[in-house]
Amino acid sequence: MKTWENNVRKVVPYTPGEQPDDKYMIKLNTNENPYPPAPGVERVLRGMDTDALRLYPDPSAGELVRAIADFYRLDEDQVFVGIGSDDVLAMSFLTFFNSGKPVLFPDITYSFYDVWADLFRIPYKRPALDENFHIKKEDYFQENGGIIFPNPNAPTGVEMPLSEIEEIVRENQDVIVMIDEAYVDFGAQSALPLIEKYDNLLVIQTFSKSRSMAGMRIGFACGDPKLIKYLNDVKYSFNSYTMDRTALAAGVEAVRDKEYFQETCRRIIETREWAKKELKALGFCFEDSKANFIFATHKTCPAEKLFQALREKHIYVRYFRKERIDNYLRITIGTKDEMEQLIEFLKSFI
Ligand SMILES: *Cc1c(COP(=O)(O)O)cnc(C)c1O
Repeated sequence: MKTWENNVRKVVPYTPGEQPDDKYMIKLNTNENPYPPAPGVERVLRGMDTDALRLYPDPSAGELVRAIADFYRLDEDQVFVGIGSDDVLAMSFLTFFNSGKPVLFPDITYSFYDVWADLFRIPYKRPALDENFHIKKEDYFQENGGIIFPNPNAPTGVEMPLSEIEEIVRENQDVIVMIDEAYVDFGAQSALPLIEKYDNLLVIQTFSKSRSMAGMRIGFACGDPKLIKYLNDVKYSFNSYTMDRTALAAGVEAVRDKEYFQETCRRIIETREWAKKELKALGFCFEDSKANFIFATHKTCPAEKLFQALREKHIYVRYFRKERIDNYLRITIGTKDEMEQLIEFLKSFI
């Protein structure tokens, strides 16, 4: 090994889900939305003034911040935006998890949290979910350097009631508690109203799932103005222009179309509830999901075998070769037609 290699920041990176180059695929592996973005998004993209790309974008992302604040009836100084919620989460770790005490997140959760913690050298502890994959709130009443978990949790889809979230926030007023609400629009209760009451709560959401904009990379955090100011200080110390002109213009359109947003979420929820019944009838078991995916295991057929068989039929789902969850499949909710094809295949295979 060369001497300089001793001084490299070595990390084990996050592994994103596959983006296969397969024309015939049914893609149920990365929790994307099966419906296109709001119609206004296409309109602004077609009308983009390419000459304006000479100029830097608005570093404060003012118009997008305003549109998000309007939608959620917040003040602009309660909103921070970034390049997908992954960027917002990374900035938040860097800004708020500096006590030297371990940050807490579940053993089974979004697999980026431990990657950022390792990258930023933040110590962490991972309390185990109970045997039904529920978060035990008491695990978060111990001394810590901060708390982060998704609600509903990923990849389980399990929602924690808002009353329990509030207990965790209330018990931990000396640290920042982050709730990652990537899937909250599919039927769970948001912790957003609690930001008025607790200045240690940061609620993080994304346009990638419920607003069909994974390819555009837009995420945001809401919290007390003081939290947002600290986040912006770190952002401006790292990269002033995180949001490009295209993302800003498209993001504003996506968030303004409330009706389209509500209708696509409603359709996904309806398809999810239908898929739950069908999967149950086929011998699958799962906790009730409030997300746009179902995390299921089969009574007799091993998950890895199903994963491979589905793949051969161009149906992509997610399989994690990890302790405790290596007999589960995470199946994203697609269109009704895609889900019918999935169920038809499973009926013939099992
Ligand atoms: C998808 C997802 C994200 C990241 O979303 P982006 O906004 O696309 O970066 C963050 N947290 C969880 C739990 C997710 O599932």
